[in-house]
Amino acid sequence: MKPPSVDRLARSLEHVDLPFPLLVESVREAVRAGDPDRAEEMAIRRTRQLLQPVINATGVLLHTNLGRAPVDSELRGAYQSLEYDLSTGARGDRSVHAAALLALVTNAEAAFVVNNGAAAVMLTMRTLAHNQDVVVSRGELVEIGGSFRVPDVLTESGARLVEVGTTNRTRCADYERALADERFDVGAVLKVHQSNFRLEGFVEEASVQQLGALPVPLIVDLGSGLLDARCPWLEGPPPAWLAREPAVKQTLASGADLVTFSGDKLLGGPQAGIIAGNAELVAKCARQPLARALRPGGQVLALLQSTVLAYLRNEGDRIPLWRMAGADNDSLRQRGLAVARAGSIPTDRVSPTTAVMGGGTLPGESIPSWGLHLPSSFSELLRNQTPAIIARVHRDQTIVDFRTIDPADDTFVAKVLAGLDGPW
Ligand SMILES: *Cc1c(COP(=O)(O)O)cnc(C)c1O
Repeated sequence: MKPPSVDRLARSLEHVDLPFPLLVESVREAVRAGDPDRAEEMAIRRTRQLLQPVINATGVLLHTNLGRAPVDSELRGAYQSLEYDLSTGARGDRSVHAAALLALVTNAEAAFVVNNGAAAVMLTMRTLAHNQDVVVSRGELVEIGGSFRVPDVLTESGARLVEVGTTNRTRCADYERALADERFDVGAVLKVHQSNFRLEGFVEEASVQQLGALPVPLIVDLGSGLLDARCPWLEGPPPAWLAREPAVKQTLASGADLVTFSGDKLLGGPQAGIIAGNAELVAKCARQPLARALRPGGQVLALLQSTVLAYLRNEGDRIPLWRMAGADNDSLRQRGLAVARAGSIPTDRVSPTTAVMGGGTLPGESIPSWGLHLPSSFSELLRNQTPAIIARVHRDQTIVDFRTIDPADDTFVAKVLAGLDGPW
């Protein structure tokens, strides 16, 4: 039985917007800590543990801890034509919407959507090279963010790794030697984009064109999901910071049989993984029993579909990530000045900053931006707002970077700043 005091204390907290069991949990935690007076503080802290929208003022466009690409998260409570054919009234196919559009925009024969990039690589390897060998350059046995390690993913998929070349140099002949070696039964060649680091100096790698000509399927794990190097969805030419980033469309055109990439990196959509390329190989992946365990839900497919429709209309401004990444730098300065004035902060606190793409993409590349420079102690005050404003702390300063803030949130940011005291 519940001690009556816990119940009473929890009832006294009903002004905190939480279901009763969570209030009870908070009271218990305070009692356990020997300080029942802190129950309210615990309950408020519990509300902060719920998944909620935040304002990203870090200047990191794909902030891994803030869900990478910004997407709408509203639950609309509607049914969807997920697997229902509206023309015939018969059972439909969940590959005709988002997946079909992704194929169209990248000029792939077909595409298949799974839960994330890691799942896309895993499913591809499991389908094409289970109990077989996969040839990978030693320079591409990489680790990407939260525990995605190429050798481990291969092992889990039941494929055997054959390493070729060296850390800095791998030639096509290295792959050819492995293919000719009769100890190996090679199911595929895997080329992995070194997403989050850069090798400089005495380096060499085999091109997609060369590897695509080999007699086994070439799978390229691109990771970031830049759909087209020409960026036709942007008004001007492709930005300089994209110059080294391989794109899906061009990689397929160069001879990759399949490419894999994430939905929530440079694609700017929800968390998802995409396998695109040769129709027969894509269909084989889709038929693999593991595919069922890796499939995303309708909400994800709906978000992905609206993202890709914007690409097909060449309307980058409809994709929040590209709207932010492509915003004119002077407009960021103007917004910074307006927010400073509205918040009664000296305008000399507004100065240039350096934003980055983040999310394990575009290492070493920076994107010019403008931000408000505040004392470092302000980061906690900003974080404690609802919605929380997550700023960047750099060299004893809290920087509120406007490149990653939705302009619709400027008024809120200004209001919060107006309530804070200097010293400036
Ligand atoms: C990011 C990345 C992955 C993992 O994708 P997730 O969507 O994070 O699972 C795999 N390979 C490469 C090259 C990547 O950049």
